Amino acid sequence: MAKAVRATRATVPASTRGKRSPLANRRVSADERRARLAVVETTQIMSAIGLSPGRSGNVSCRFDTGMLITPSGMAYDTLTPDDMVFVDADGSVPQGARKPSSEWQFHLAALKRRPDRHAVVHTHSRHALILACRHEPIPAFHYMVAAAGGVDIPCVPYAIFGSAELSDHVANGLTERDACLMANHGMTAIGETLDAALELARDVEELAAQYIGVLQLGKPKRLNAKQMAEVLERFKGYGQRAQTAEA
Ligand code: 13P
Ligand code: ZN
Repeated sequence: MAKAVRATRATVPASTRGKRSPLANRRVSADERRARLAVVETTQIMSAIGLSPGRSGNVSCRFDTGMLITPSGMAYDTLTPDDMVFVDADGSVPQGARKPSSEWQFHLAALKRRPDRHAVVHTHSRHALILACRHEPIPAFHYMVAAAGGVDIPCVPYAIFGSAELSDHVANGLTERDACLMANHGMTAIGETLDAALELARDVEELAAQYIGVLQLGKPKRLNAKQMAEVLERFKGYGQRAQTAEA
């Protein structure tokens, strides 16, 4: 408990100290403090590495019966754990909390659709966004495309930000993949943890940049369905995951 509180203070920018906290009158458990801090830290990295220019993007993690999500339209370098917003499964927000991200609906929908994933990272990262404006998936131009869980990284149709329609599209795009592009908007990645979701968002952005580079040389030679199925199988035992005969 003491450790979590110390860590929380260390991340509070001087400019926001002394301001009334949106959690002023609420008891917050050690677990909730840790989760709030983890969301803030994820946004700080996401912003620092350029995945979310300006105030774009948002981050959430499953918590209790709902999720903790970034507030809408606040500059990342001012965020404190108390600014994170608890949104319950029915979309309700505790009185006095900040206004949640305008995209709370698709975060909640993704977490409901994928009970095996517990964190969502949405970005406007440059190369993923450029490809999303073509309304096409990232195909199997490189085996690492399988990092998102399938033979391609789909692009879900356009709908205005913050809409229930966009929420449906994103939840559909993430049903069989851990990442999707969002037409004329950006991308979203999910993971078992905040770190995993952020890492996948970085990987997708890098793949998008690589694919744009390959496209400049002409039509890429793609891996076929059998080759991608082999990669997906081998990924199950990659790195420090349980040993298989091959990997
Ligand atoms: P919020 O600041 O409301 O999260 O909006 C940012 C965004 O990326 C909308 O799609
Ligand atoms: Zn967005």
